[in-house]
Amino acid sequence: MTIKIYNTVSRQKEEFIPIEEGKVKMYVCGPTVYNYIHIGNARPAIVFDTVRNYLKFSGYDVKFVSNFTDVDDKLIKAAKELGEDVPTIAERFINAYFEDVTALGCKKADKHPTVMENMDTIIDFVSALIEKGYAYESEGDVYFRTRKFDTYGKLSHQSIDELRIGSRIEVGERKQDALDFALWKTAKEGEISWESPWGNGRPGWHIECSAMAQKYLGDTIDIHAGGQDLAFPHHENEIAQSEALTGKTFAKYWMHNGYINIDNEKMSKSLGNFVLVHDIIQHHDPQVLRFFMLSVHYRHPINYSEEVLEKTKAAFDRLKTSFQNLKHRLDSSAGLADSNDLWLKKISELHDEFTREMDDDFNTANAISVLFELSKQANYYMMEKNTDQHVIEKFIEEFKLLTSILGLTLEEETLLDEEIEALIQQRIQARKDRNFKLSDDIRDRLKHLNIILEDTPQGTRWKRG
Ligand SMILES: [Zn+2]
Repeated sequence: MTIKIYNTVSRQKEEFIPIEEGKVKMYVCGPTVYNYIHIGNARPAIVFDTVRNYLKFSGYDVKFVSNFTDVDDKLIKAAKELGEDVPTIAERFINAYFEDVTALGCKKADKHPTVMENMDTIIDFVSALIEKGYAYESEGDVYFRTRKFDTYGKLSHQSIDELRIGSRIEVGERKQDALDFALWKTAKEGEISWESPWGNGRPGWHIECSAMAQKYLGDTIDIHAGGQDLAFPHHENEIAQSEALTGKTFAKYWMHNGYINIDNEKMSKSLGNFVLVHDIIQHHDPQVLRFFMLSVHYRHPINYSEEVLEKTKAAFDRLKTSFQNLKHRLDSSAGLADSNDLWLKKISELHDEFTREMDDDFNTANAISVLFELSKQANYYMMEKNTDQHVIEKFIEEFKLLTSILGLTLEEETLLDEEIEALIQQRIQARKDRNFKLSDDIRDRLKHLNIILEDTPQGTRWKRG
């Protein structure tokens, strides 16, 4: 079977044919690291980690690059507000990002490039665009000459004329045409800046992805992905920059994940419904959040609420229960021959159904339905008086394989007694330090693992619930 991918450029599902046989070069736009990530950032992280898993499962050698924007207006503003410098803030939130997405089951990219470490590459890219006549300097700024790039608008399906109507030159911009966009911005007084042929300044936002994708993956990549909100202008501008420079197709397939709503409303700072992953995973199993994100097709909008998350947890627990029951059943099962073939065939059919759904533009929503069917069949099977060890093993194996593609595990997290003791000591120390947040977090985590703490005058006692 071949994999089909919905390509935003053609607005249809296309058969996936990589540039080089057996290899996939994939670039995903990463976050601007000025705060903890919100669940809108978590969706592309989870979705494209799953896409990567599935491509690997399908036999491809995947090279995966995802950037951090560690210099931009938001970071400069945060630095001013907090009285810290930009690199300190960026480093803090890069670490926080890894903590959050690791909890969500996402693996690190092969490379996570940052703007700061790629300044020379970016400056060279801008210089080359000026040489080719696609960019021009204007009082220390550099702009891309959008009209010169004939196919501008092809990704977001807009014509230059339509775009012209909505565009204007803002105060302080030194561009020749309202559609032109900044590749380099001259530094304002006191701002972090780098030397360049156009004076001290910093890159515009779009140029970093063009420069870094080319540096780490080459002129043409297989899959370029990100949130739907990035399609215009960010990805449109990336295409213009890259293709103007190389004359080659920048990315063969463009994938975009849909929006997240919170309680049926658009997430926005002004509505005060900004949900940070960091906060959610204090109170919920991060796996449940991942399961929730994958329970809707990645291109569709998804609605987050506490209630939905609770329901998702209950559903996920049903799978876990089946899986745990199978494991308990393993020991009491014997070697039977009678009805094995029928069950083994059933399991293998469900395996094929799962891959069929994933081949169809990574339909994780339907793939999850197949997992529930597998659980249902396993439950039926365990109702039989005598069960066969081999069939039980096959069920367990299949559960492990299919959930691992989705980045999930049905194994119970268990802590050794020593680990529990260590956490209790950490909690005692946190309370001494009056760090009640940490103390509560430890208690919640243990509670989640069914370990109950009892604070007595003689100290903290614990038991497994
Ligand atoms: Zn980007």
